[in-house]
Amino acid sequence: MADAFLGEADSLMGTAANKKTGQPETANDTSSILIVDDNPDMREYLKNILGRNFNVVTAGNGIEALQKMQEQAPQLIVSDVMMPHMDGIQLLKAIKENKKYERIPVILLTARAGEESRIEGYQVGADDYLVKPFSTKELLARITTQLSVRKKIEENEKQLEYFIKKAPVGIAIYRGPEFVIEAANDRVLEMWGKTLDEVKGRTLTDIFPNIITDDYPRELYKTSIDKFLKGETFVLNEVPFTFDRNGQPYNGWYNCTYEPIQDSKSSTTGIIAVVNEVTGQVIARKQIEESEERFRTLATEFPLFVWLTNEKLQTTFLNKAGLEYFNVPQKTDLAELSWKKFIHPADIERVLTVMNDAAEKQRSYTLTMRLKNGKTGEYRWFVDNGMPQFNNGNFNGFIGTSMDIHDEKTADEKIRQSEERFRFLFDSNVLPVAFWHISGEIYDANDSFLNLMGYTREEMHEGRLDWRTFTLPEDAPLHEQRVRQAVEGKTIPPYEAKYINKNGELISSLVGYAMLTGSKERGIAFMQDIRKIKEVESALRQSEEKYRQLSASLEEKVRQRTEELSEKNSQLSQAQQIARLGNWEWNMGKNEILWSDEMYSIYGYGQERFKVTIEKATERMAPGAAENVIDRMKGYVAEARRLFHEKGVKIFDNPAVEYFIVLPDGSKKILRGGGKIILNESGEVSRVIGTVQDITENMRQIEELRKLNEADKLKSDFIKMASHELKTPVTSIKGYTQLLLSALKEDESKISSLLIRSSLISVDKQITRLTRLMSELLDLSKIETGMLVLDKELFNLNELVIETVQDILYTNSKHSINIFHDYECEVYGDKDRLGQVLINFLTNAVKYSPGAEKVEVWIKQSENRCVSVSVKDFGIGIDKKDHEKIFERFYRAGGKVEQTFPGFGIGLFIAKEVILRHGGTIHLTSERRKGSIFTFTLPVAGSKLNKNE
Ligand code: ADP
Repeated sequence: MADAFLGEADSLMGTAANKKTGQPETANDTSSILIVDDNPDMREYLKNILGRNFNVVTAGNGIEALQKMQEQAPQLIVSDVMMPHMDGIQLLKAIKENKKYERIPVILLTARAGEESRIEGYQVGADDYLVKPFSTKELLARITTQLSVRKKIEENEKQLEYFIKKAPVGIAIYRGPEFVIEAANDRVLEMWGKTLDEVKGRTLTDIFPNIITDDYPRELYKTSIDKFLKGETFVLNEVPFTFDRNGQPYNGWYNCTYEPIQDSKSSTTGIIAVVNEVTGQVIARKQIEESEERFRTLATEFPLFVWLTNEKLQTTFLNKAGLEYFNVPQKTDLAELSWKKFIHPADIERVLTVMNDAAEKQRSYTLTMRLKNGKTGEYRWFVDNGMPQFNNGNFNGFIGTSMDIHDEKTADEKIRQSEERFRFLFDSNVLPVAFWHISGEIYDANDSFLNLMGYTREEMHEGRLDWRTFTLPEDAPLHEQRVRQAVEGKTIPPYEAKYINKNGELISSLVGYAMLTGSKERGIAFMQDIRKIKEVESALRQSEEKYRQLSASLEEKVRQRTEELSEKNSQLSQAQQIARLGNWEWNMGKNEILWSDEMYSIYGYGQERFKVTIEKATERMAPGAAENVIDRMKGYVAEARRLFHEKGVKIFDNPAVEYFIVLPDGSKKILRGGGKIILNESGEVSRVIGTVQDITENMRQIEELRKLNEADKLKSDFIKMASHELKTPVTSIKGYTQLLLSALKEDESKISSLLIRSSLISVDKQITRLTRLMSELLDLSKIETGMLVLDKELFNLNELVIETVQDILYTNSKHSINIFHDYECEVYGDKDRLGQVLINFLTNAVKYSPGAEKVEVWIKQSENRCVSVSVKDFGIGIDKKDHEKIFERFYRAGGKVEQTFPGFGIGLFIAKEVILRHGGTIHLTSERRKGSIFTFTLPVAGSKLNKNE
């Protein structure tokens, strides 16, 4: 038997030796094998056959084996089952129960070939077994397999260990339904705030008692156990849990996956838990959710409008309140909705300017505007707050709110207005105003009141002013009754009463009073000195009478002129008949025209005579018109022949034509021509004759008539304006004069020279203004009657500009006026009138640019030996449609803004007339709100310097 063993072993070992180099991975020299058998022969035999490839250690029974293992743990154990002291099964148990050895594969050798023994072997965890007798080959094969399995497992375990250790997520391995922690990587320990020693071998609930004490984790824990028992994967997202980290409670959120670990018999032995902390994300998301929630509640429930726009300022969101106000259905596509149509037209431009500016400058804005209520059409005031939004630095639209402030605004406005009105009344001393107490004392009053009553402010402060001392005894009951009524809250309409002042003068006055709001003891009283009113009234009446006369005479003049002209017009046809006509005869074949003497004079040739051809006859017509004449005539001849052949008509009347010619001096004449074509018996043209009449004067008259009619319409406006314009300076002059007079009356020595000076300066300004208005009016009538005579002289234009600007600066301190002399020259003209033109340009520039600070004057060289003078302002500008008309008499640009400026509308008309009569031109370039440039040109008489040359 031993031989048989050996023989087999030899052949096997031979193979094994042969294969040695071929299988180094399975049968490796350094692997040590423990052989346990009580039979020394068997031990020897096994040692022999295995010793060639492995380190072999032997033991006679289980106890001896365990002792040997303590010295050095083998890679594999081959053990006999039947042994004294400690048999193979007992040894196997001891090994598998020892954590240190449990992984060592054990191959049992048994002589009993029965199921029981196998099962027994497996139950205690034998990795393999062989029934004696077995072949050497089989044993070696089993050993090799076990060793390589073992190696694989070890490798896997190492890899797993490595993975676990380095994993970017927390990994823990729990064993059993109590979740005993077997392994935990650094990441998970960090999350837990524990060390491996603190957790290893302990149950989860032991380490984290709040898993049981807190409701939510307890539920999850129960479910985890349930899943564990069923062997199912369990995924939990965003589980909130509080760990103790460094002695501090730490609230975090975690995503966990519980993956069951199953043994070879498919029963769950443990769990791999993969834990990922997501606290950061959750907090960020929760913050967004919260803020979105806040925004939504705010947006939908606020009585305020909340809105968003995109970068094109189109609305992308509008809350409920806003939709309701505009009466827009909830489902409307907001981008399609033009919210601009809800803004008051007067506000829209301002709103857009402010928003665009805010977008550009990347900042918030606040503005007030009126928004239309979609249901009622009513506009209400809102305050709009907007904040630009940016995405990667690009403007992304606005987020904003609009709040209804209508009631506050209108109330505020009303209060402000009434306060302003009152302050104005009080301070301006237009009316005597006093505050009184029910006791009769006057505790505050304006100067006007004090003057009227003859008291000083000090006397008032000393409490020496009392209504009762002012009133006449017979009026006392009346006053008392009225005051009582006032105290009861009734309004006392002003009534006339007489008072006596400190100087004993009787003052007839209108008096009105009211209690101060909320007071039963204090009131306010207004007085109006009727004496003064009566004076002023009569002064006004006088001045109005004057202007009425003036307007009447103007009206009268216009009426007369109209009559005159229409009379002339009716005489026109008569005149035409008596007028000498020019006549001509055209020999078309010879290209020869016979002209009467009148023809020569009409065409501006005077006494000159020459042979007239069609070329010569049409020479002074407008370019192109000459060809027209020939073509037209050919057409008429054809027409005449046709009529002759059809109807036998021998005389053909050319239709009358009106045309103009230009004389060598540049003047134009309007002519009317007509003619006849006379045919002979056979239908040949025998003569072409015609007449020409100069209708320039007629046309001029007709044009004048038309203008006059137009002027008629403007006239009434003018009269209104004129009386107002004239009244203002006169009233103010009168005011100052009276002021000085009354000051003089009081005490001459006390008048301050400052007062006199300032009053006189004001009077002087007004007189200058009045003088200017007067001379404009005078010029107007001179122009109308053709009596404007120019007083020409040679003078330096630049000097005139300087002088005029200085004059203007003397009365206007607000604007600076700069002169740019690009060209210096002399002109031959009426210096005073040209000065007036400049004054008109300059005063207009100043007047129509209240918001600007400067005006510029440019003197430049212009075409055709002319000089141009431009006055440039940065004011309200003039609409294109008004550019032409502005130079017409009485014309003033329409529009709300323009109407608020005083003026006659004749300055530019006169300017144009004056310039045209100097052979110059006048024109305007302007745009609304951008300012205007008024320019005139004049022929140069002599130039000194051109800075550009
Ligand atoms: P007025 O006395 O009304 O100023 P003008 O004949 O001088 O009369 O001007 C006619 C109108 O032309 C003015 O009413 C005004 O509407 C317009 N106008 C004249 N100058 C300016 C200017 N510099 N800027 C804007 N508007 C002007």
